[in-house]
Amino acid sequence: VSRTLRIDAVSYDLLDLSLRTTFRTHWKTIRRHSTLRVRLRAGDVWGEGEAYTMAAADGLATLRSLELEGFAPNVLLGRIPSIPGLASRSAVDIALHDLIARIEGKPVHDLLGLPRAAATTCVSVGLDEPAAMIEGARSWIAQGYPILKIKVTGATDLTLLEKVREMGGPSLRIWVDANQGFEPDRLSEVSEILRRSGVEIVEQPLPVGRIGEYAALRPRLGLPIYLDEEIRSAEDVVAAVVAGGIDGINVKLAKLGGIREALRAIRLARRHGLSILLGCFFESSLGISASTHLLALADRVDLDAPLFIERDPYSGLAIEGASIAPPGGPGLGVLASAAEG
Ligand SMILES: [Mg+2]
Repeated sequence: VSRTLRIDAVSYDLLDLSLRTTFRTHWKTIRRHSTLRVRLRAGDVWGEGEAYTMAAADGLATLRSLELEGFAPNVLLGRIPSIPGLASRSAVDIALHDLIARIEGKPVHDLLGLPRAAATTCVSVGLDEPAAMIEGARSWIAQGYPILKIKVTGATDLTLLEKVREMGGPSLRIWVDANQGFEPDRLSEVSEILRRSGVEIVEQPLPVGRIGEYAALRPRLGLPIYLDEEIRSAEDVVAAVVAGGIDGINVKLAKLGGIREALRAIRLARRHGLSILLGCFFESSLGISASTHLLALADRVDLDAPLFIERDPYSGLAIEGASIAPPGGPGLGVLASAAEG
């Protein structure tokens, strides 16, 4: 990037999104929400980024307090750690990667030295009454989706997993995400039914802050444990390695503060033998596209937001059934729909 290039203009707003149906986990329920959107201009090139946060209004206030104009995009990328708020930082970081890649005329994955890769995403079944969850699973299976991530808690009647296995047959892959909803004793109690149902991984079973308990829990569970809410930085990956009993981490850009920190976390995790699940929040295709440029680094993929968002204001992701890949073209590669302008 030319040294004379500077950020000439910035704009921040909330992107109002709605889901096709209400989605519930152990600790939140979503139907309509707002994400943070960042636009940066250098010369006549724009870059855009997006990130989900439960505190979107606070995030917008953070963004509006930033003074990014006048900085060279490369310099700004190095200054990102000083932006408070991980989601705000992520939206700016993604916009900068989009901007720099567009200026250089290459896709973001190319800018990062990564190949363009496609992957099979799981689709999520939200918490509900067992009958509704089974119906939700049935619908995804009928549409040919090969991997389900089923949201559960310690209170969920897990015989529903056996019913889902029966419906999906031996080839269906089942992941379970507890979103911090278990106590170790309860998880040990249900470990038999989890294994019998052919569950492949169990995500974030315990509440955040109890990372020291996994080393003892892992042999009792007998299944791979992935951490999600617990991992918000590369340092958290180190903590997971030190604690032991952890098999993988869920990497979400908005949670980690953007592409740069996600890459640090991924490198550390790999070095210590942890697997990578590339995840997302309910962002539009703008935010999701940033993650698709990292697909070459993922062992498992949960980028199902485009299947849930109603009237996605961005298009261009290569999605066919459960197969997902980044758009072609420079930068993130997504296009704003006509209505967005
Ligand atoms: Mg999760």
